Amino acid sequence: MSYNLEEIKKTIKIGFEELGGIDKFIKKDEKILLKPNSLQPSKPETAIVTHPVFIKAVIQVLKEKTDKIYIGESPGVGSFATGAAISGLKKVIEEENIKLIEFVPNIEIEIKDKLVFGKFMIDKRLLEMDKIINLPKLKTHVLMQMSLCVKNMYGIIPGLKKLEYHARADHDRIQFAKILVDIFRAIPPHFNIVDGILAMEGEGPGTSGIPVNLGLIIMGENGFAVDRVIPEFIDVDPYRIYTNRVYKEYINKNKDIEYKILGENPGVLKRFVMPPDEERRGLFGYLIRLLRNWTLSKPIFIKEKCTGCQVCVKHCPVTALLYKGKDIGIICDYNKCIRCFCCHELCPEKAISIKKPFLKIFSK
Ligand code: SF4
Ligand code: SF4
Repeated sequence: MSYNLEEIKKTIKIGFEELGGIDKFIKKDEKILLKPNSLQPSKPETAIVTHPVFIKAVIQVLKEKTDKIYIGESPGVGSFATGAAISGLKKVIEEENIKLIEFVPNIEIEIKDKLVFGKFMIDKRLLEMDKIINLPKLKTHVLMQMSLCVKNMYGIIPGLKKLEYHARADHDRIQFAKILVDIFRAIPPHFNIVDGILAMEGEGPGTSGIPVNLGLIIMGENGFAVDRVIPEFIDVDPYRIYTNRVYKEYINKNKDIEYKILGENPGVLKRFVMPPDEERRGLFGYLIRLLRNWTLSKPIFIKEKCTGCQVCVKHCPVTALLYKGKDIGIICDYNKCIRCFCCHELCPEKAISIKKPFLKIFSK
């Protein structure tokens, strides 16, 4: 499978048929919002963003049911319009005559059985849609281990609110995963189609990740089930992914998340190279945080690659970073740093690497 428009359309149509037909999910003339991954302005060959040809194929399949199609995002860096221009998505939007939405925070929504905090600011246009279709990229993620269906919906949180939620999770990956699971349950997409054709392994989800041809499209109604099954194809423990672990332990009463594979089961396609993982709960979590400069991975700033754009400085949720000019580059206050790795995720120059901890015994 490659980014061949007709081949992708055919596969998506077969997928809908396997799941009971497109009519089961999309009714005539419904208002549909597509939520792709558009983390930062990137070319599609970097595997950072959902591929524009993939999105075009989804749009053309959906047009059999409706022309009322919108595409919305709040990227980590820059505007969605800028990101769309660089990735090639803008051309698709114009050719297909659909509408682009930059999310703004203008309504508060609430989730009753919250895991962390039940109120989120979102864009009210999300609530005006009949259906939301989630279009994640299959990527590794240094903080959550993988960015799939659940993580992709973090992009409905507009701009700076994302930084606030990161800061409130502090050093705790489980806490951040709970926030993601809350957001996903507050605005659950009605359908998910994952772009795993060109996927990403290594230290994703930004420029430090490694694109890898996987040739996979995974689709399903339940995003938690889709996220549960994907690790089976890349030889990864499904509960290494923090959002899967949180859903299983806190929502699913510790039962394995159920899924059923319809259509072709490809088995393990590739053993993925994964980012470092660090458990931080209970007494261990307390010790790890206390000795964080020895026990946690940390971002390292490579002066020679740094262009001084200060994207990292602007997006650090705890203002731990300072740009000191091109001779010194970025300096980091590691006592403030909560190891959210937003800086690593968003640096456009691969100028931030991740240094593994000195005392690895505490990390697992
Ligand atoms: S480290 Fe990266 S994001 Fe930060 S200023 Fe340098 S190039 Fe920009
Ligand atoms: S320095 Fe980087 S990893 Fe540390 S808190 Fe800031 S953005 Fe997160």
